[in-house]
Amino acid sequence: MSEQVEFRNVSFRYQEDAPRVLKDVDFSIDRGEWVAIIGHNGSGKSTIAKLMNGLLFAESGEVRVSGEVIGEENVWDVRKQVGMVFQNPDNQFVGTTVRDDVAFGMENRGIPREDMLRKVPESLKAVQMEAYEEHEPHRLSGGQKQRVAIAGVLAVAPDYMILDEATAMLDPKGRQEILETVRNVQQESDLTLITITHDLNEIVAADRVIVMNEGEVWFEGTPREVFSHKEALSRIGLDVPFVAKLTEELRSQGVHVKEEPLNHEEMVEELW
Ligand code: ADP
Repeated sequence: MSEQVEFRNVSFRYQEDAPRVLKDVDFSIDRGEWVAIIGHNGSGKSTIAKLMNGLLFAESGEVRVSGEVIGEENVWDVRKQVGMVFQNPDNQFVGTTVRDDVAFGMENRGIPREDMLRKVPESLKAVQMEAYEEHEPHRLSGGQKQRVAIAGVLAVAPDYMILDEATAMLDPKGRQEILETVRNVQQESDLTLITITHDLNEIVAADRVIVMNEGEVWFEGTPREVFSHKEALSRIGLDVPFVAKLTEELRSQGVHVKEEPLNHEEMVEELW
Protein backbone atom coordinates (compact mmCIF):
# COMPACT_ATOMS: atom_id res chain seq x y z
CA MET A 1 0.00 0.00 0.00
CA SER A 2 1.47 3.33 -0.99
CA GLU A 3 -0.72 5.64 1.13
CA GLN A 4 1.07 5.97 4.41
CA VAL A 5 -0.87 8.60 6.27
CA GLU A 6 -4.56 9.29 5.71
CA PHE A 7 -6.80 11.87 7.35
CA ARG A 8 -10.45 11.18 6.54
CA ASN A 9 -12.88 13.96 7.56
CA VAL A 10 -11.01 14.54 10.78
CA SER A 11 -12.40 17.01 13.29
CA PHE A 12 -10.93 17.87 16.65
CA ARG A 13 -11.53 20.19 19.60
CA TYR A 14 -9.44 20.54 22.76
CA GLN A 15 -12.40 20.97 25.13
CA GLU A 16 -15.96 19.79 24.78
CA ASP A 17 -17.46 23.27 24.78
CA ALA A 18 -14.68 24.85 22.69
CA PRO A 19 -14.89 25.39 18.91
CA ARG A 20 -13.36 22.81 16.57
CA VAL A 21 -9.72 23.54 15.77
CA LEU A 22 -9.77 20.99 12.90
CA LYS A 23 -12.81 20.81 10.63
CA ASP A 24 -13.28 17.86 8.27
CA VAL A 25 -9.60 17.68 7.43
CA ASP A 26 -9.06 15.25 4.57
CA PHE A 27 -5.75 14.41 2.86
CA SER A 28 -3.35 11.55 2.29
CA ILE A 29 0.41 11.26 2.11
CA ASP A 30 2.23 8.59 0.09
CA ARG A 31 5.24 6.56 1.14
CA GLY A 32 8.48 8.41 0.42
CA GLU A 33 6.79 11.76 -0.18
CA TRP A 34 7.90 15.04 1.33
CA VAL A 35 4.79 16.96 2.27
CA ALA A 36 4.97 20.43 3.80
CA ILE A 37 2.06 21.56 5.96
CA ILE A 38 1.87 25.33 6.11
CA GLY A 39 -0.46 27.86 7.69
CA HIS A 40 -0.36 30.87 10.00
CA ASN A 41 -0.14 30.42 13.77
CA GLY A 42 -3.17 28.67 15.21
CA SER A 43 -4.30 27.18 11.88
CA GLY A 44 -4.10 23.64 13.28
CA LYS A 45 -0.74 22.33 12.04
CA SER A 46 0.63 21.06 15.36
CA THR A 47 -2.71 19.47 16.17
CA ILE A 48 -2.39 17.50 12.93
CA ALA A 49 1.13 16.39 13.93
CA LYS A 50 -0.12 15.23 17.33
CA LEU A 51 -2.96 13.27 15.74
CA MET A 52 -0.43 11.55 13.47
CA ASN A 53 1.46 9.99 16.32
CA GLY A 54 -1.37 9.39 18.74
CA LEU A 55 -0.63 12.21 21.18
CA LEU A 56 -4.23 13.19 20.41
CA PHE A 57 -7.14 11.21 18.95
CA ALA A 58 -9.68 12.40 16.36
CA GLU A 59 -13.06 13.49 17.71
CA SER A 60 -14.68 12.35 14.46
CA GLY A 61 -13.28 10.94 11.24
CA GLU A 62 -10.25 8.67 10.99
CA VAL A 63 -6.49 9.03 11.09
CA ARG A 64 -4.74 6.03 9.51
CA VAL A 65 -1.06 5.26 9.58
CA SER A 66 0.12 2.44 7.26
CA GLY A 67 -3.51 1.43 6.82
CA GLU A 68 -4.39 1.20 10.55
CA VAL A 69 -6.74 3.59 12.28
CA ILE A 70 -4.88 5.10 15.26
CA GLY A 71 -6.56 4.28 18.55
CA GLU A 72 -5.67 3.64 22.21
CA GLU A 73 -4.87 -0.01 21.43
CA ASN A 74 -2.18 0.53 18.76
CA VAL A 75 -0.79 3.90 19.80
CA TRP A 76 2.57 2.50 20.95
CA ASP A 77 3.13 0.73 17.63
CA VAL A 78 2.30 3.95 15.83
CA ARG A 79 4.76 5.93 17.94
CA LYS A 80 7.53 3.49 16.96
CA GLN A 81 6.88 4.28 13.32
CA VAL A 82 6.84 8.02 13.79
CA GLY A 83 9.82 10.23 14.52
CA MET A 84 9.32 13.81 15.63
CA VAL A 85 11.68 16.77 15.76
CA PHE A 86 10.39 19.85 17.54
CA GLN A 87 11.07 23.55 17.58
CA ASN A 88 13.50 23.95 20.46
CA PRO A 89 16.69 21.90 19.97
CA ASP A 90 17.77 22.41 23.59
CA ASN A 91 14.75 20.54 24.93
CA GLN A 92 15.62 17.44 22.95
CA PHE A 93 19.03 16.52 24.36
CA VAL A 94 19.58 13.95 27.06
CA GLY A 95 23.10 12.67 26.41
CA THR A 96 26.42 14.23 27.40
CA THR A 97 27.90 13.49 23.97
CA VAL A 98 26.38 13.58 20.53
CA ARG A 99 26.92 9.80 20.35
CA ASP A 100 24.97 9.14 23.59
CA ASP A 101 22.25 11.34 22.40
CA VAL A 102 21.77 9.62 19.08
CA ALA A 103 21.92 6.24 20.86
CA PHE A 104 19.29 7.23 23.42
CA GLY A 105 16.23 6.50 21.29
CA MET A 106 17.71 3.14 20.29
CA GLU A 107 18.42 2.18 23.91
CA ASN A 108 14.80 2.93 24.73
CA ARG A 109 13.69 0.51 22.06
CA GLY A 110 16.06 -2.24 23.22
CA ILE A 111 18.11 -2.24 20.03
CA PRO A 112 21.19 -4.51 20.48
CA ARG A 113 24.50 -2.79 21.25
CA GLU A 114 26.26 -3.97 18.05
CA ASP A 115 23.48 -2.48 15.96
CA MET A 116 23.72 0.75 17.95
CA LEU A 117 27.45 1.02 17.37
CA ARG A 118 26.84 0.71 13.64
CA LYS A 119 23.78 2.93 13.51
CA VAL A 120 25.12 5.97 15.39
CA PRO A 121 27.86 6.88 12.87
CA GLU A 122 25.59 5.96 9.98
CA SER A 123 22.85 8.31 11.17
CA LEU A 124 25.30 11.11 11.93
CA LYS A 125 26.74 10.73 8.44
CA ALA A 126 23.28 11.14 6.93
CA VAL A 127 23.10 14.62 8.51
CA GLN A 128 26.80 15.48 7.87
CA MET A 129 27.63 15.39 11.59
CA GLU A 130 29.92 12.34 11.65
CA ALA A 131 32.84 14.45 12.89
CA TYR A 132 30.93 15.43 16.05
CA GLU A 133 30.34 12.07 17.78
CA GLU A 134 32.40 13.03 20.84
CA HIS A 135 31.13 16.60 21.07
CA GLU A 136 28.89 17.94 23.79
CA PRO A 137 25.46 18.65 22.29
CA HIS A 138 24.89 21.93 24.13
CA ARG A 139 28.01 23.45 22.54
CA LEU A 140 26.76 22.95 19.00
CA SER A 141 25.09 25.65 16.90
CA GLY A 142 21.29 25.62 16.63
CA GLY A 143 21.39 24.11 13.14
CA GLN A 144 23.86 21.41 14.24
CA LYS A 145 21.68 20.57 17.24
CA GLN A 146 18.65 20.06 15.03
CA ARG A 147 20.71 17.88 12.68
CA VAL A 148 21.73 15.72 15.64
CA ALA A 149 18.06 15.51 16.67
CA ILE A 150 17.25 14.34 13.14
CA ALA A 151 20.05 11.73 13.37
CA GLY A 152 18.50 10.44 16.61
CA VAL A 153 15.21 9.96 14.80
CA LEU A 154 16.85 8.32 11.77
CA ALA A 155 18.74 5.88 14.02
CA VAL A 156 15.54 4.15 15.09
CA ALA A 157 14.50 3.75 11.43
CA PRO A 158 10.97 5.12 11.59
CA ASP A 159 8.68 4.95 8.56
CA TYR A 160 8.01 8.63 8.75
CA MET A 161 9.42 11.72 10.31
CA ILE A 162 7.62 14.92 11.28
CA LEU A 163 9.54 18.15 11.73
CA ASP A 164 7.27 20.53 13.62
CA GLU A 165 8.62 24.07 13.12
CA ALA A 166 12.10 22.55 13.50
CA THR A 167 13.76 25.60 11.98
CA ALA A 168 11.74 28.26 13.78
CA MET A 169 14.39 29.11 16.38
CA LEU A 170 17.36 29.05 14.00
CA ASP A 171 19.24 31.80 12.20
CA PRO A 172 19.16 31.80 8.36
CA LYS A 173 22.30 29.64 8.14
CA GLY A 174 20.89 27.06 10.55
CA ARG A 175 17.62 27.08 8.66
CA GLN A 176 19.40 26.44 5.38
CA GLU A 177 21.39 23.58 6.99
CA ILE A 178 18.20 21.88 8.11
CA LEU A 179 16.43 22.28 4.80
CA GLU A 180 19.42 20.81 2.95
CA THR A 181 19.65 17.96 5.44
CA VAL A 182 15.98 17.19 5.08
CA ARG A 183 16.24 17.22 1.33
CA ASN A 184 19.25 14.85 1.34
CA VAL A 185 17.57 12.47 3.76
CA GLN A 186 14.44 12.42 1.64
CA GLN A 187 16.35 11.77 -1.55
CA GLU A 188 18.41 8.96 -0.08
CA SER A 189 15.71 7.01 1.75
CA ASP A 190 12.10 6.05 1.35
CA LEU A 191 11.26 7.82 4.57
CA THR A 192 8.03 9.81 4.41
CA LEU A 193 8.71 13.38 5.49
CA ILE A 194 6.22 15.83 6.90
CA THR A 195 7.54 19.31 7.61
CA ILE A 196 5.39 21.84 9.41
CA THR A 197 6.10 25.52 9.01
CA HIS A 198 4.57 28.98 8.81
CA ASP A 199 7.31 30.18 6.45
CA LEU A 200 6.64 29.82 2.72
CA ASN A 201 10.40 29.86 2.03
CA GLU A 202 10.51 26.38 3.51
CA ILE A 203 8.08 24.68 1.17
CA VAL A 204 9.99 25.33 -2.03
CA ALA A 205 11.66 21.91 -2.27
CA ALA A 206 8.76 19.79 -0.96
CA ASP A 207 6.91 17.38 -3.28
CA ARG A 208 3.54 18.62 -2.18
CA VAL A 209 2.10 21.27 0.10
CA ILE A 210 -1.01 21.30 2.27
CA VAL A 211 -2.06 24.83 3.19
CA MET A 212 -4.11 25.08 6.40
CA ASN A 213 -6.34 27.98 7.33
CA GLU A 214 -8.47 28.15 10.49
CA GLY A 215 -8.56 24.40 10.92
CA GLU A 216 -9.39 23.57 7.31
CA VAL A 217 -7.35 22.40 4.34
CA TRP A 218 -7.35 25.57 2.27
CA PHE A 219 -5.32 24.27 -0.68
CA GLU A 220 -3.27 21.25 -1.69
CA GLY A 221 -0.76 21.21 -4.54
CA THR A 222 2.86 21.57 -5.66
CA PRO A 223 4.90 24.49 -4.29
CA ARG A 224 4.57 26.20 -7.65
CA GLU A 225 0.79 25.87 -7.61
CA VAL A 226 0.69 27.24 -4.08
CA PHE A 227 2.85 30.24 -5.00
CA SER A 228 0.61 31.06 -7.94
CA HIS A 229 -2.10 32.11 -5.46
CA LYS A 230 -0.08 34.89 -3.93
CA GLU A 231 -2.89 37.39 -3.30
CA ALA A 232 -5.08 34.76 -1.68
CA LEU A 233 -2.13 33.55 0.39
CA SER A 234 -1.45 37.01 1.73
CA ARG A 235 -5.11 37.28 2.75
CA ILE A 236 -4.59 34.26 5.02
CA GLY A 237 -1.40 35.72 6.45
CA LEU A 238 1.21 33.99 4.27
CA ASP A 239 3.74 35.93 2.20
CA VAL A 240 5.12 34.45 -1.00
CA PRO A 241 8.94 34.44 -0.78
CA PHE A 242 11.05 36.74 -2.88
CA VAL A 243 12.56 33.82 -4.83
CA ALA A 244 9.13 32.61 -5.95
CA LYS A 245 8.03 36.11 -6.94
CA LEU A 246 11.22 36.51 -8.94
CA THR A 247 10.75 33.14 -10.66
CA GLU A 248 7.27 34.12 -11.70
CA GLU A 249 8.45 37.48 -12.98
CA LEU A 250 11.28 35.89 -15.01
CA ARG A 251 8.92 33.30 -16.50
CA SER A 252 6.42 36.01 -17.43
CA GLN A 253 9.22 37.72 -19.35
CA GLY A 254 10.01 34.52 -21.24
CA VAL A 255 13.21 33.72 -19.32
CA HIS A 256 13.68 29.97 -18.91
CA VAL A 257 13.68 29.02 -15.22
CA LYS A 258 13.93 25.34 -14.40
CA GLU A 259 11.14 23.45 -12.65
CA GLU A 260 11.09 22.97 -8.88
CA PRO A 261 12.95 22.38 -6.71
CA LEU A 262 14.66 25.72 -6.72
CA ASN A 263 16.22 27.53 -3.82
CA HIS A 264 18.16 30.71 -3.26
CA GLU A 265 21.48 29.38 -4.56
CA GLU A 266 19.93 27.88 -7.67
CA MET A 267 18.12 31.13 -8.31
CA VAL A 268 21.36 33.08 -8.02
CA GLU A 269 22.94 30.64 -10.52
CA GLU A 270 20.05 31.14 -12.94
CA LEU A 271 20.46 34.88 -12.75
CA TRP A 272 24.20 34.90 -13.28
P1 ADP B 1 -0.51 25.79 14.68
O1 ADP B 1 0.40 24.64 14.87
O2 ADP B 1 -0.94 25.98 13.24
O3 ADP B 1 0.02 27.07 15.25
P2 ADP B 1 -2.20 24.51 16.65
O4 ADP B 1 -2.58 23.18 16.13
O5 ADP B 1 -1.11 24.59 17.67
O6 ADP B 1 -1.89 25.50 15.44
O7 ADP B 1 -3.48 25.21 17.29
C1 ADP B 1 -4.75 25.22 16.67
C2 ADP B 1 -5.76 25.87 17.63
O8 ADP B 1 -5.89 25.04 18.77
C3 ADP B 1 -5.34 27.24 18.12
O9 ADP B 1 -6.48 28.04 18.20
C4 ADP B 1 -4.78 26.97 19.50
O10 ADP B 1 -4.99 28.07 20.35
C5 ADP B 1 -5.62 25.77 19.95
N1 ADP B 1 -4.86 24.90 20.89
C6 ADP B 1 -3.66 24.33 20.64
N2 ADP B 1 -3.28 23.57 21.69
C7 ADP B 1 -4.25 23.68 22.63
C8 ADP B 1 -4.44 23.13 23.93
N3 ADP B 1 -3.54 22.31 24.48
N4 ADP B 1 -5.58 23.46 24.60
C9 ADP B 1 -6.51 24.27 24.05
N5 ADP B 1 -6.39 24.82 22.83
C10 ADP B 1 -5.28 24.53 22.12
